[in-house]
Formats: sequence, C-alpha cells, structure tokens
Amino acid sequence: MYELASFMAGLERRNPSQPEFIQAVREVVGNVIDLVNENPQYLDARILDRICEPDRVISFKVEWEDDGGHLNVNRGWRVQFNNALGPYKGGLRFHSSVTEGSLKFLGFEQTFKNALTGLPIGGGKGGSDFSPRGRSDAEIRRFCRAFMTELQRYIGPDTDVPAGDIGVGAREIGYLYGQYKKIRVENTGVLTGKGPLWGGSLVRPEATGYGTMYFAQEMLAREGDSLEGKRVAVSGFGNVAWGAVVKAAELGAKVVTISGPDGCIIDEDGISTPEKAAYMLQLRASNNDVVKPYAQRFKARFIPGGKPWQVPVDLAFPCAIQNELTLQDAKDLVAGGCRHVIETSNMGVCADAAEYLIANKISFAPGKAANAGGVAVSCLEMSQDAQHLYWSADEVDGRLRNVMKGIHASCVEHGRCDDGYVDYVKGANIAGFCKVADAMCQQGW
Ligand code: GLU
Repeated sequence: MYELASFMAGLERRNPSQPEFIQAVREVVGNVIDLVNENPQYLDARILDRICEPDRVISFKVEWEDDGGHLNVNRGWRVQFNNALGPYKGGLRFHSSVTEGSLKFLGFEQTFKNALTGLPIGGGKGGSDFSPRGRSDAEIRRFCRAFMTELQRYIGPDTDVPAGDIGVGAREIGYLYGQYKKIRVENTGVLTGKGPLWGGSLVRPEATGYGTMYFAQEMLAREGDSLEGKRVAVSGFGNVAWGAVVKAAELGAKVVTISGPDGCIIDEDGISTPEKAAYMLQLRASNNDVVKPYAQRFKARFIPGGKPWQVPVDLAFPCAIQNELTLQDAKDLVAGGCRHVIETSNMGVCADAAEYLIANKISFAPGKAANAGGVAVSCLEMSQDAQHLYWSADEVDGRLRNVMKGIHASCVEHGRCDDGYVDYVKGANIAGFCKVADAMCQQGW
C-alpha cells in the first residue's frame, strides 16, 4: 500500500532542489493514490515508484561562439521520461529558467498529456539554460548547431522525437534539423514543428492555441454555452498565445490582454484583427521579449510589471510559463466574475491557486489536457513523415478537434463529481495515468 506523505517524503529526498518536479508529482499522485491502492496489479508492479522515475536524464555541455568571438558554455539536457506508449515525445525549451528539475517536471507532465491524446507517443522533454533574449540570428544558429551536435546521438524518429517549446520555434527547429541532417544524412521525422516545405505539418504552429480553444468550447458546450461574446484574458505573447488569440477571435470571443516579462497589455478593442495577431509574431521574432511596443502601435494600455488577471473577464488562459498564476491572481479572477480557467502553459497555475479554483467550483482545465493539441499535431506530423505525404490543413484541423473532444470526454468521465461539477485535474490525471500504468504492467519489468 502507498501512503501519500511517506511516498512524497521519499521522492523529495531523492530529488533535492527540484520543487517543480515535486509539485507536478504531488498533484498526480494525490489524485491516483486511492485507485492504485485498490488495484493489486498496480501495487505488484510498484507502479508509483516506477512511473515517477525518468527512464534516463541525459546532460551535455554546449559550447558555442557569440558574435564577439567569445566562447560560451551552456548546459543541455534531454529527459527521456517514459516510453510505454510510444517513442519519447516532447519539446525543447531554451530559457534562462531551465534546470534539470524543471525538465523533469515537464517530462513527467508530458507523459500523461501524451497519453491523453490517445496517440502512440511516450513522454520526454529537453532544452538548455541558453536564453535567446537579445541574441542575433547568427548566435542562435551557432547555438542550435552546437546543441544538436550533442543531442543527435540520443534521438531518432522511432526513439525520441523533440519539438519546440518556449524559445524554440520554427527558426530554431530549422537550424536544429539542418545540423541533424548534416551529421546523420537522413530525412526523417526526427523533429516536429518543421517548416511545411521540408516535412512539417500544416496547422502545427497554430495547434496548441487552437487546441486550447477547442477544449474551452467543449467545456462551455457541456454547460449549454459557447465562446460567442465572451471576454477573455490571455497571458504571454508567443506561439501558444498567438494561436489562442486567433482562434478565440474566429469563435466570436474578445481577447483583451496579452503579457510579457515587461508587463501587460490591455486592449479593450480586442486583439482580434489579423494585423494585431501578425504583430504578435513580429514581437516574438524580435528576440526582445517585450510587449510594450504593442501598446504604442495600437493605442492600447500597458501596465509595467502587470499581469492580465486583474481585468474582469469570463475566461482566463494562462499561456506563458509554469506557476505564472498565483493564489491572489486566482482570487482576483474569481472576484472579477471569471468562471473558467484554462491552463494552457504547462503547470501555469500554482498548486494553491488550483486548489482554490476547484474548491470554488470554477471550471479549471489543467495544461496536460488543454494544451495537448500541440503535441497531438506533432504526432500527426510524425505520421505524415512516416508515410512521406502531406495532409491538407482541413484534415489536420479536423483530427485536432477530435483529439481535443476525446480528451475533454475522458476528463469528464473520470472527473465528474456527484453534484455535476467536473474536477478536470483529477479527470485528466486518472485518465492519463491509467493508460501509461496499464501499458507498463502489460510490458513487464
Ligand atoms: N512543447 C509542447 C508541449 O509542451 C509540444 C511538444 C511536441 O510537440 O512534441 O506539449
């Protein structure tokens, strides 16, 4: 039998200074421990001990030269967390906050997220503490080449398929793929998020943002409601926020905020025109990591150091980074009338804030369910690459919608409470966990 306190104490002892990993595990284990204790097969397989331990953590040195001719040294990692359901799959993050512990949390989350998609992909994550902020295009290229020179030994289209994440977009994937091919001389689906001219899938850039809106649509439809006419807060301004803003506008909602490390934009006219969405992409491509220029360009409000959660809205979509929405932010959102929080960044909502939302019966979708559209379309990209074919945008978008519908249904099935409230966190954790745990049991040890 497992006991939560002693299991977590052991985990903390074995993983010192990795608070985000501990936080992610606590949430999942807290939701599944009773189910595990009632299932002798899981107990015999010591499933919790095994599922919370990454298969391997690969760490390497990345040496690269900046524009001044100086040598720089960064750390790179690939966490191959669990391949019970398929090849390791998950993004690469280039950000100053990246540590081994943060990648372990992300790889752990990814394992259950990927399971929820219903597609044959295991969980992994990688990245570097390299920060692209303020770096020239040539510096980013040299860094990507040096990073892939190391990483290429450990990945392959049937073993481990990285993709983008924070700081890694189409440009970086291009440089990484170019270097992989230089060394391995093969054109395969070893990375996803590739350019549409060289094996990339249509709708992959939009997929995470579109997927989270499709998930929100499902949540609202279950309550007999829709996104039409809703006020929406989005945080972040990168690829995920962009896709969410574009799809929200298409579905008749009005996104009034985006944010960056420098502060928050409030645009009461709505971030709804193609010109505004295109400008978000320009801001991201500038490598400056700021949103203030949006305010000057479109005569919107800019709050230096501010966050989007103090603005009254119907729905909130944290789309930036882990633990971005605090308990106070959650209280402010609820006080402002918000009834739906759709976590789109990985673990974007702090643990106490998530507890507050659930205790107050706010519909709260966890990232591993709501943001799974990105990795789902990555898997569709793998399918197209394996067949040496391209599918149309409509074909990919249709499959994405179905995946999001399926994830929503699984959350409702496993998270429905007696009073009709759906605990989406519990539903997602149980549904994702059972798939991975069953596959592990069937494959033996
Ligand atoms: N980085 C994204 C995620 O967190 C996408 C991963 C992928 O496409 O493999 O799910």
